[in-house]
Amino acid sequence: MRLLETSVRASEGIAVGRAFVVNRCNDSQPYEKGSLEQEHTRFEQALTLSHEQIEQLATDSEIFAAHLEIVDDPMLSDAVTAHIDEGLSAPEAVAVASEELGAMFEAIDDEYLAARATDVKDIFVRIAANLTGGVKNPFEGVEDGDIIVDSELFPSDMALLDFAKIRGFVTAEGSATSHVCIIARNLSVPAVVGLKGVLEQVKSGDKLIVDGSGGRVVIDPDMATLDEYKLQELNYKALQAEQQQSATAEIYRNGERIYVFANAGSVEDVERAMAAGADGIGLFRSEFLYMQSATEPTEQQQYEAYAAAARACDGKPLIIRTLDIGGDKAVPYLGFPKEDNPFLGWRAIRVSLECREMFCRQLRAILRASAEGDVRVMFPMITTLEELAEAKCVLEQCKAELTAEGVAYREDIKVGVMIETPAAVLIADILAANCDFFSIGTNDLVQYIMAADRANAKVANLYNPYSQAVQRAREMVISAADRAGIECGMCGELASDSQATELLLDMHLREYSVNIGAISKIKYQLNKNQNEE
Ligand code: PEP
Ligand code: MG
Repeated sequence: MRLLETSVRASEGIAVGRAFVVNRCNDSQPYEKGSLEQEHTRFEQALTLSHEQIEQLATDSEIFAAHLEIVDDPMLSDAVTAHIDEGLSAPEAVAVASEELGAMFEAIDDEYLAARATDVKDIFVRIAANLTGGVKNPFEGVEDGDIIVDSELFPSDMALLDFAKIRGFVTAEGSATSHVCIIARNLSVPAVVGLKGVLEQVKSGDKLIVDGSGGRVVIDPDMATLDEYKLQELNYKALQAEQQQSATAEIYRNGERIYVFANAGSVEDVERAMAAGADGIGLFRSEFLYMQSATEPTEQQQYEAYAAAARACDGKPLIIRTLDIGGDKAVPYLGFPKEDNPFLGWRAIRVSLECREMFCRQLRAILRASAEGDVRVMFPMITTLEELAEAKCVLEQCKAELTAEGVAYREDIKVGVMIETPAAVLIADILAANCDFFSIGTNDLVQYIMAADRANAKVANLYNPYSQAVQRAREMVISAADRAGIECGMCGELASDSQATELLLDMHLREYSVNIGAISKIKYQLNKNQNEE
């Protein structure tokens, strides 16, 4: 029996099954290098074929729509052709360019953009396969009860995997924000990622225990360990089934409705959230639309995405947060300047107010989509009343334009403020008198109150959402909202933590915007609380 552990928390739950170690090598004939001209032609053909394959896949998945832009990006073909010119064969040039461009993305100090490295490598794997005998399905032969073990799982793999058969995932690379983890969490499939050395230790057919909650993998477990985990698995499944019964419940406390909304980054997320029982979308992170694209999405493209999300909500609230980029969350095509203190720099509403035309394009798209449902708009990183007033003024200008053009929109669209900075907490009463709702963004609020970077492990002990200072801030914000008679929600990670639910209920928090996988857990917790009253 051997045990491997990681500190990354990928997807909760326990799975016991057989390892299926993925083999991505093509069993084709050895590659014979041709002349310089032939190598260029072969690469061009493989690139065209890859484009066609991705185009076909893009009709049903947003992941592939992003791939299509990457495969067409001249940066990719220029990198490969330069290496062919240096004398490498086409597959060698593809491998070197993949390493170089993958490393370039990984080095970006932003977890979402760094995750784009996986998309880039995914595309290079496809081009390489098209050069050396064709793309094969690396999951051929997967059987019921198998646990997929691979160095890294790619977004395109998601279309090839039969989730009904798979019990779990284990990968040597990857982070908790990678596509595979997001999908695994949404489907409640246990996963452990970032487990260095797993491929050297595991072979196909080995018995495995995947403990996604603890970040552990046990290889060839002994009987006692197996029994212990089987019991844990049963308990976990029983709890999940119990929680599931609360998924669609309407929750009340002292006669007041308590809402469990979900956080989403795409239309697909909104659809999944609705299917999982969400009472609405409390945070639609619009920056994903900008980050997945090679250029700024047009007003029409944004309108289509927001309107589709509104329709998926079917009358339930959809809170769209305006662009939250800047600082370390850069969008390459916007050409942001480098800053010494990016978290204290030019981000979110500060960018939108300066890049006025871009802001207008987004607000017009949101307003147009508001004709399709209960769409609300929310501004991130507000620190002064002037910022809020200016943002509202731009919104009014956009409304006036649409009225003049005869375009439909919701005139009384609700306007909200994200409370993410100590400044916003301290003037919460003033802000509350000037907006329709608050949403507490604990992820940023904790880092700014505690002066502790949310991604820096060295100060993780200080980054504590339960600390007294943060607690007081929450109380101030919720009571300022109550006094002004406006709604107050929470969309930071703390809202998804069932250990905090009771505390937050006691503070009179009535809206929880949570990860899709946490909807039934939080509803269950709220229901339990209600029954225990
Ligand atoms: C937050 O800061 O709590 C939040 C929800 O915003 P993000 O995590 O996108 O910064
Ligand atoms: Mg934030």
